[in-house]
Formats: sequence, C-alpha cells, structure tokens
Amino acid sequence: MHILGNQALRSRLQEALRAGPPAPAYLFLGPRGVGKGLTATWMAARLLCTGPEPPCGLCPACRKVQSENHPDVLRIDRVEGKASVGIDDVREGISAVQLRPYEGGYRFWILSEAERLTSEAQSALLKTLEEPPGHLVLILVAGGENALLPTVTSRCRILRFGPVDVQAVADLLLEQGVPPDRAAVAARISSGSPGLALELVGAGEIWDLRESALGLAIGLPGSQTWQALETAAALEALKTGSSDPKADLTRVLDSLTSWFRDALCLSVGGDEALVVNVDRLDTLRTLASSSSPRSLDRALQAILEAFDHLHRNVQPRFLLQRLCLELSRVGA
Ligand SMILES: [Zn+2]
Repeated sequence: MHILGNQALRSRLQEALRAGPPAPAYLFLGPRGVGKGLTATWMAARLLCTGPEPPCGLCPACRKVQSENHPDVLRIDRVEGKASVGIDDVREGISAVQLRPYEGGYRFWILSEAERLTSEAQSALLKTLEEPPGHLVLILVAGGENALLPTVTSRCRILRFGPVDVQAVADLLLEQGVPPDRAAVAARISSGSPGLALELVGAGEIWDLRESALGLAIGLPGSQTWQALETAAALEALKTGSSDPKADLTRVLDSLTSWFRDALCLSVGGDEALVVNVDRLDTLRTLASSSSPRSLDRALQAILEAFDHLHRNVQPRFLLQRLCLELSRVGA
C-alpha cells in the first residue's frame, strides 16, 4: 500500500506499534487529501494483518481492510447533505466498539470529518474514551482541532499531517495518465494535496468550471460596467452539479484568487515557479505588465471580501456583481 508524503510520520507510527500496543484513540490532523484516511486504513491493516511483515497487503485480513470489508473496522462518514455529524451518527459506533473483535485483536473505528462532530456527539464519545475497551482503536480524522472539545483531544494521540511535495503530486498525476500541462496546474492548485489534485483532474466538471472561470476572469480588467455585470451572471451560472450550494461559488472564487495572485506575483517580479496557472503563463504576463501591483492587490482584497460575503450568506448575484465591478477596475 503506497501512500504519498508524510513518510516520516508513518515510520514513527510503525516504530511505536512495534514497541507496544496502540493507543485507544488517535487524532489525525491535517489538510484535506494528504493521506490521513489512507494512513488510518494502513494502520488498521498493520494491526489486523496475519502475514509475516504487517501490513503485507496480501493476507485475507489486509485484503478485507483495503476493500472496506473487514468486520473489525468500522467507518463512519458524514451523511451527504448534512452539515454535521450528530449523536445519532455516532451511536452505532459507540455500541459496536464495545463488542469483542470478530477476527483480529482490535476493533477499529475510523471517524472522518471529526471537526464536524456536534458537541453532543463529542460528549457521547467522551464516555467511551474515558473507559475505552482494551481492544478499541478509535481514529478521529479531522481538518483542524478548533471544533473539538479539549477533553476529547487530550485523550487522543495527535498526529499532524502536512502537505505533500507539489512535484510528487504532479508525478502521481502523470503516472495516472494526466497530460503534463494539466498535471502541473492541478498539483499547484491543490497546494500539495494528492486527494484534491486527483479530484480536480478526475471530475471533468470541476476542471471545466476552472477553465470557464479563468476564461471569464481574463476579460474583466478594463471592461465596461455592462460587460462586468454580464460576466457576473456568467460566473454565477457555472455549476458542477455539486449538492453543496456554496461549493461551486467557492471554486469560482478560488480560481479568481489564484489568477490575480499569480498576476500580482509576476507584476512585482516574483519567481515564475510560484505561479499556479502555469498553463496560461503568457496571458498572465500580459496582465501583469499592464496592471499596477496596487490594483492587483485591490483585486485580491475584493475577492477576500467576496469570500466573507459568501460565508455571511450574501446573495451570490449581488456578491459577484460587486466583485466583477471591482475587478473591471484592475489596470495601471
Ligand atoms: Zn496482511
């Protein structure tokens, strides 16, 4: 089982597991898509494997863990469409982990997006963590720890995952047959998250949305008011079919951020290696040479404000109109 990045962390975990039994609870922290979930699976295979060198990847236990069919590995994910993981979602886990393991020496419970656990659900979990059954290995996977109760985190062994080297992510995409141009851009957009990069190149709609958003952004600087308003309407119409109503607008704003940040970087003579949208370098150079750093900085401020408006549930149309009018003023 090959996992990209965070090798040192897994080596330390491997050493600790050689030296003694696992802790009853772990908290895997780090950005999305950097291998936290894969490491949780690796750890389950490591402890349930019946081969000579665990995890061997070949024995029935390893195979069942990897295909998510092992009876001693319980996974609970957030229900799609629900914003949080509530007490009803964790109750099944709490009673299941009290039972003795069926096949191996441990019962795993991998709980993803733990930062979305309601405080009620966390309090229920806490009772299990205060007197954990000897066979329990709970792995909380989370993007951050702020939303978790200190009483919960203090009972977990915390492992912090970092981003993966951008070139390694690009190489992974190339191995998967992604064209070089697209692989380079996706790896940079993902900021070293193999999971995000794979999502970006895997789902055609997400890539198409980025292409359309940038195509529209290119025409904004120096445009007339009516053109800016038309662009706002066109940006609002960009959809991937996501069930999360804010997801697509967030992607549009992310694309605009990377675009104007790239231009700002070039306009102040920054290193081209830092540019995200490398597939449109010529257009970016033109924008950078015709715009003052100050106006590009104002553009970025306006995008930040738009993100803020999005979080405050301002109407997408109003938010985009305001933003596009601001971006039309980018220039000398
Ligand atoms: Zn095995």
